Amino acid sequence: MSRGAATTAAAVRRIGRSAATPSPSLRMAKDVRRIGLFGGTFDPIHLGHLAVAHAAQRRFHLERIFFVVAGCPPHKSESDLSPYPHRFAMTALACAGEPRFVPSLAEAGPDAHGHRICYSVDTVRHFGKQFNQPGDRLYFLLGADSFLHLASWKNYQELLGLCDFVVASRPGFPSGALRKVIPEALLAPQPAGNHLPSGIIPLRQTTVYLLDTVASHVSATRVRQRLDRSQSVRGLVPASVEDYINKQALYK
Ligand code: ATP
Repeated sequence: MSRGAATTAAAVRRIGRSAATPSPSLRMAKDVRRIGLFGGTFDPIHLGHLAVAHAAQRRFHLERIFFVVAGCPPHKSESDLSPYPHRFAMTALACAGEPRFVPSLAEAGPDAHGHRICYSVDTVRHFGKQFNQPGDRLYFLLGADSFLHLASWKNYQELLGLCDFVVASRPGFPSGALRKVIPEALLAPQPAGNHLPSGIIPLRQTTVYLLDTVASHVSATRVRQRLDRSQSVRGLVPASVEDYINKQALYK
């Protein structure tokens, strides 16, 4: 491992440790940064995504949420996706007027066209370098459908140890199955007779939280289908995104 990689690993481990056992002094510190990372193809970004981000921001008092527009996710074919610049533009429009929501080019690649395959474990390491002060905490936001597929992600066991996870409930995807995704060896030992609140799964280094206040039926697939049939998407995407889609004649 190079020195740079070792430094990053140490920084990321610090984040993981502090997420699992934040000391009261760290919790009180004014300079603690609680950062949300919300990755997605955002093709297009919709009100379900924004509901997840708002709910997570409120519950975890997130200073910022980075909306990381996926370049070429390993589980989707690039040819099925809208061009990166359009997906990024729509995400930026959806973040406008929300001071805590930041559109991120972290997975855009050197030419900003998002042709590179990106893995979440690398993206989290990237942010771990940026937010590496004592007490900094990273929260990885995702929907229950995505979490249920976690075992197919690159180095997912390592990823589970790098930051906390905030899993938003999504209609049709059983929240009760979330724990089964996590290998036994990663679960924190539970003292006998200690009953944890439901919706919190402590791991050895980090924590998985269920965000069950979100129940949005919106999906990008449904938005694309409606646009393809020339149906309205009002109430499914922000007005600015709808306007952009119409002006650029996307999803026809
Ligand atoms: P598609 O329909 O194209 O698969 P999507 O609506 O799931 O797209 P993505 O950009 O793939 O949108 O999702 C990014 C993240 O947001 C994923 O973790 C996904 O689980 C989550 N997400 C998307 N929509 C919702 C929703 N309505 N409720 C909770 N989580 C959601």
